[in-house]
Amino acid sequence: MSRLLARIMLAVFMLPVAALVWIVAFMVLYEDVLRRREEQCFLVSGLVTAAFVGGYWVLLWRRSVRWNAPRVVGSVGLALGAVVLGGLVAWPMDRLESGFGSLLFGPATTFAWLVGTVFLWRETPGERASRLDARSGTSLVCPACGYNLTGLDQATCPECGVSYTIDELLASQPGREDSEIERAAAA
Ligand SMILES: [Zn+2]
Repeated sequence: MSRLLARIMLAVFMLPVAALVWIVAFMVLYEDVLRRREEQCFLVSGLVTAAFVGGYWVLLWRRSVRWNAPRVVGSVGLALGAVVLGGLVAWPMDRLESGFGSLLFGPATTFAWLVGTVFLWRETPGERASRLDARSGTSLVCPACGYNLTGLDQATCPECGVSYTIDELLASQPGREDSEIERAAAA
């Protein structure tokens, strides 16, 4: 199984695991911590699960995303936007049926953020072009900062100072995973 396929499988498994986290958090809160205050239990379980999913998602994809300032700031902004959106979904629902809003707030916020990250984290056409450019030659770039290491006789980046073995350097070139997808699609 390729690393990319393993990652996609882990992404698929995230939602059932998140459901389990929610249930366990709810049970513990309901029985021990919040003493059967159902609405608060819904809300806090949702927040615990949102934190779990956020951490899981970032860890899962961190090496596939080209991190730059707009993406980092955007991901935080997206979280704030998702909270507002979750509130806008939850509030009318709570007026409809008391407690329902507290139940929906966490999941709605989490889904909004996840969907947003897919659009924010995917490569732009310009990034794709430069990635294909870099691949078509023999250039190597620093996985940490993107500095072009072609022609250097050492595996230490002069720009950011990170050292690599040749294997690490080759394995972490941007676009390697995308080329796996592209080859699979062509086959
Ligand atoms: Zn570097």
